Amino acid sequence: MISVIIPTLNEENYLPLLLKSLKQQTYKNFEVIVADAGSSDDTVQIAKNWGCKVIEGGMPAVGRNNGARVAKGDILIFLDADVVLPKEFLEETLKEFKKRKLDIASSYMRVLSGKSIDSLMYNIVNIYLGVSQFLKPKAVGHFIMVKKKIHRKIGGFDETIKVAEDFDYIQRASKVGKFRYLTSCRIPVSVRRLDKEGRIAMATKYVLIGIYFDLFGGVKSDIFRYRFGHYAEEKRKESLKEKIKEFSLKMKMIYRIKSLRAREILDSRGNPTVEVELMVNNKIFRASCPAGASKGKYEAKELRDGGKRYLGKGVRRAVENINKIIAPAIRRKYVINQRSIDSFLVRLDGKKDKSHLGANALIAVSEAVCRAGADVCNKTLYSHIADIYNDRLLTPSDAKFKIPLACFNIINGGAHAGNDLAIQEFMIIPQDSTFSFNLRMASEIYHELKKLLERKFGKFATNLGDEGGFAPPLKRTSDALNIIMKAIKKADYLGKVRIGLDAAATQFYRNKKYWIDGKKFSQDELINYYKSLIKKFPILFIEDPFAEQDFEGFRKAKQLFPREVFILGDDLLVTNVERIKKAHTIDCCSGAIIKPNQIGTVSEAIEAAKLVRSYGWKVLVSHRSGDTTDSFIADLAVGVGADFIKAGAPARGERVEKYNRLLRIEEELKQK
Ligand SMILES: [Mg+2]
Repeated sequence: MISVIIPTLNEENYLPLLLKSLKQQTYKNFEVIVADAGSSDDTVQIAKNWGCKVIEGGMPAVGRNNGARVAKGDILIFLDADVVLPKEFLEETLKEFKKRKLDIASSYMRVLSGKSIDSLMYNIVNIYLGVSQFLKPKAVGHFIMVKKKIHRKIGGFDETIKVAEDFDYIQRASKVGKFRYLTSCRIPVSVRRLDKEGRIAMATKYVLIGIYFDLFGGVKSDIFRYRFGHYAEEKRKESLKEKIKEFSLKMKMIYRIKSLRAREILDSRGNPTVEVELMVNNKIFRASCPAGASKGKYEAKELRDGGKRYLGKGVRRAVENINKIIAPAIRRKYVINQRSIDSFLVRLDGKKDKSHLGANALIAVSEAVCRAGADVCNKTLYSHIADIYNDRLLTPSDAKFKIPLACFNIINGGAHAGNDLAIQEFMIIPQDSTFSFNLRMASEIYHELKKLLERKFGKFATNLGDEGGFAPPLKRTSDALNIIMKAIKKADYLGKVRIGLDAAATQFYRNKKYWIDGKKFSQDELINYYKSLIKKFPILFIEDPFAEQDFEGFRKAKQLFPREVFILGDDLLVTNVERIKKAHTIDCCSGAIIKPNQIGTVSEAIEAAKLVRSYGWKVLVSHRSGDTTDSFIADLAVGVGADFIKAGAPARGERVEKYNRLLRIEEELKQK
């Protein structure tokens, strides 16, 4: 067993990140001891909440020794509170420690900073430490791994030393045991001291400490003014100027939620929906919630007021839940910790279907938190989402981004239109490798289709459905597909565009039969019907070919459709990991639609996408038929590496805002 010992003093900003990274370790057999030196902030509470053993600390040497005294493990790991460990860190370092038969070890540092000067400085330090391990070994207290019997043999850290007690410790320990630097993992370290004290000042100070130590040993006087956390004794000695500087630095570090406010706005269908404004670091982050017309029965529940107002569709209850329940509960929480805020929201709601506070309340808050988190981390929204997806918060992201293929809904039927088409969405999926050209193809085909429809049925045939696609008076699926193919040909993109269908079959499932094109079909007949369409048209996927409870229909389709045609579950899976797992066990899908408001929080949507991807299935991130100009899903799709995105037609503000956001992202990625 390992005992991880962390000395702390007012570390509420950093400790949660370290504890989270410890929780995510692939190696699990360890305890965490926090030796606290009398924090006046939430450090102790945070440590307790994460299940750590909290004991009395002092200066780092005292805290570490106290921790070692109560440690159960036979291997001790001393960590500074401002490090964040990669997932495999404990597993890898322990493996190497044992393999090389070491008694004490440290690891080289990887700096958490985008500045090349910082990387250069730390690389020089690493080289110096690497060379000195064979002559006069030294290690910095960020990470020290030691056998408990060695720690005891040398009597622990020298508590009389104020600076370089870690150097002294390593030198004494290396005389009774074997010390080496581990090469399997580097420890990520923050640059807060460099930021606080200035790079040149810090570099000079460390060089002087090194020289002093080599000449005289550990520093027992105050000649190098060392600050541990926000040490109370030192704080009293600060000048007013330093206090103001410290205060303004702290202000910048306040990445907590200051306030949260919600209001009712209208969506693209003219129905009320929830908008929130979250204030962090004196900036406002806004997000709003969309609403589906064909909702899955198993979706998280949105709250509607009922009654006369807005024909029952008001969302005042959801707004009130945010203002009166959620806002006071999440105030002062750290926005970068998306997963913990989301799980807090889920717990606060307390109901499996989120019907207590309302999924429409939760998702708007969750998305606004995500936006604020990205800003605080100084990242784009999609790369922040990728970091959450990859569990790489506050470590340099190595995510490679691509723009998903967009599926443009150009003919609307089903619940989205007033015509007789049973299939809800007819989508074109241009296949070029650049998004900007795909968008151009979609727009040109859309306009060619408009002309064809006008010519055939007159002007009223180009009325738009909810998602911006046309809602012509067509009756049969093949009529719609034929006229789309004609438009593709007219625009001269034949062979460059595939077709996607969202059957949303629950909507035409009545009395155990599927009603389509004026006929009723059994499960098997419907499969044959789809197969005939697949034969005739370049169909890439069919979403919800069967009703939301008809797992068997999906399973048969998976067996009988050609492998290259994907079967996507939307109403069937509702972005819910339990239903996705079930579908995987039955083997009835080859992809899933991800809609954040179907499940209620960003983290859950990300988890669902991750699960879908782990099965080798396709991920399609989707808007809703009643939407707002919030473009969150564009960043979500890029952040989770989705294969597809659908945001309706290449027309209407709330639809094109998502596509325009993708254009901007594509431009940004090209410049990188
Ligand atoms: Mg659907």
